[in-house]
Amino acid sequence: MSIDISDIASKDRNSVLHPFTHLKDFATGAMGDPTIVETGKGIRIQDARGNQLIDGFAGLYCVNIGYGRTEVAEAIARQAYRLAYYHSYAAHTTDQLAILSDRLVRMAPGKMSKVFYGMSGSDANETNAKLVWYYNNLRGKPTKKTIISRERGYHGCSVISGSMTGMSFYHDHMDLPLPQVVHTGAPHHYWGAEAGETETEFSARRAAELDRLIEKIGPDNVGAFIAEPVLGTGGITPPPEGYWAAAQAVLKKHDVLLIADEVITGFGRTGSMFGSLHYGIEPDLITVAKGLTSAYFPLSASIVGEKVYRVLEDGADRVGAFSHGYTYSGHPIGAAAANAVLDIVEKEDLPGNAREVGAYFQAQLKERFAQLPIVGEVRGVGLMGAIEFVADRDRKKRFDASQKVGARISKAARDRGLIARAMPHGDILGFSPPLVVTRGEVDEILSIAESAVRSVM
Ligand code: PLP
Repeated sequence: MSIDISDIASKDRNSVLHPFTHLKDFATGAMGDPTIVETGKGIRIQDARGNQLIDGFAGLYCVNIGYGRTEVAEAIARQAYRLAYYHSYAAHTTDQLAILSDRLVRMAPGKMSKVFYGMSGSDANETNAKLVWYYNNLRGKPTKKTIISRERGYHGCSVISGSMTGMSFYHDHMDLPLPQVVHTGAPHHYWGAEAGETETEFSARRAAELDRLIEKIGPDNVGAFIAEPVLGTGGITPPPEGYWAAAQAVLKKHDVLLIADEVITGFGRTGSMFGSLHYGIEPDLITVAKGLTSAYFPLSASIVGEKVYRVLEDGADRVGAFSHGYTYSGHPIGAAAANAVLDIVEKEDLPGNAREVGAYFQAQLKERFAQLPIVGEVRGVGLMGAIEFVADRDRKKRFDASQKVGARISKAARDRGLIARAMPHGDILGFSPPLVVTRGEVDEILSIAESAVRSVM
C-alpha cells in the first residue's frame, strides 16, 4: 500500500496527542516530521520512506517474538472471523480465554489461582491495587491500605499506577502521587551504595529502610509492596545481591502483600520465564502485559495468588459480586493472540534464547563499553541492558542535564539505523531487543551503538 507521506504527517501533527512528547517542539516541527512506521519483520521495522531501523528496544520492551509473525496474525484473524467479541462478565467465557487462563495459572511462579484481564500494564496495576484494598477489607483489616513502591520504579501512568511510579517527572503537574502511595529507596548499588558497601550490605540496608518505613506508617496501615523484579524504565537495573530475599523477609514479617510487576520481565526477558523465578520472588499478585501478546494485541493480566483469591471467594456471601471489570476484560481476540504468542515463546524457548544470547549480549556490552571514559556503569540481565554515562567516572559525577548526553547518543544511534532508548532518568542508553535476536544481530546492534557512543565522546 502506498501512502501520501506528507498528508499523513500533516494529519498526524494536526490531530494526534502523542504520549511522552514535547508538544511545542512537535507542533512547531522542531522535532522533525513524525516517523510513519509501516512494516516490521524480525528485529527490524521500516518507515514509509523505506528506511530500515533495527529495533533494539522491541517497541517498548514488548515485541518479544519479533515483528511479522504470521502465525499470530492468523490466530487473530481466525478469532475475529469466528467471534470478534463477547464479554466475560457473570460467567461468560470463550474457549481461548479459558485455555489462556489455565495456562497462565500453571506457568506463573508461586501458588496462583485466577487471572483477571485488562488492556494495559497500567490498568492491571490499578486492578492489583484495588485487589489489595478489597482483600484487606474482606479479611477485616480495613486500615491496611498504603502501597509502598520504589523510587525509579515504573508501574504505569493511570492514577494509582502513576502514583506507584517512582519518578517525579511522571507526577509533576498531574496532581500525583495519591496519598495512598509511599516510596522507598531504589535498589541501585552504583548510585545508592555508600563507599565500600558491598551489594549484600546495601541490600540489607535497603531492606532495613523498608522495615523502618513500614514501622513508621504502622504495619496495620500497609497493604502491599509493588516492585519490578528488575527496575525497567527507571534505568534497567538488576537487583543487587541479596535484595529480594532481604526485602521479602520484611514483607512477611509485617503481613504485607507483594505485587511483582512483571510487565517487562514476564515471558522470558531475564532468561527465565518470569523475573520472579529468576530472583526467587514469591509474589501474591503478578502484573503482566507487553510480552503476554508480544504487543500484537493490547492485553494485560493480574494473576491472583491463592492466598488473596481465597479471601475474595470466602467473602462473596457477605459482600456480593466482585464489582470490577472492563468491557474488554478477557477479550477473545486478545486471548487468541496470547495463546499463539505463548506457543511461540514455548516452542522456540525464548527464555532459553534470552539466557544464551543474553549472556553473549551482556558480555559484549561490558567488553565494548565498560572501559570507555564516559561510561560509569554497564549493567543488565538476559536481554535487557543499559549503559550509564557520567562526566567523571572516579567521582561518579553525572553530566549536566543540559548536555543531553543520553539523548544525543540515542539520536546518533538512530541516525545509524538503530533504536536504542535514551532512558528518562539520567544519561542512560537502554537495550531490550526482541527475544528472537541472534548473536549476529547482537553484534550488529552493539557495533552501531559503539559507533554512536564514540561519535559523542
Ligand atoms: N509496569 C511496568 C514494569 C512497565 O514497564 C510498564 C510500561 O512500560 C507498565 C507497567 C505500564 O504498562 P502500559 O504502558 O501498558 O500501561
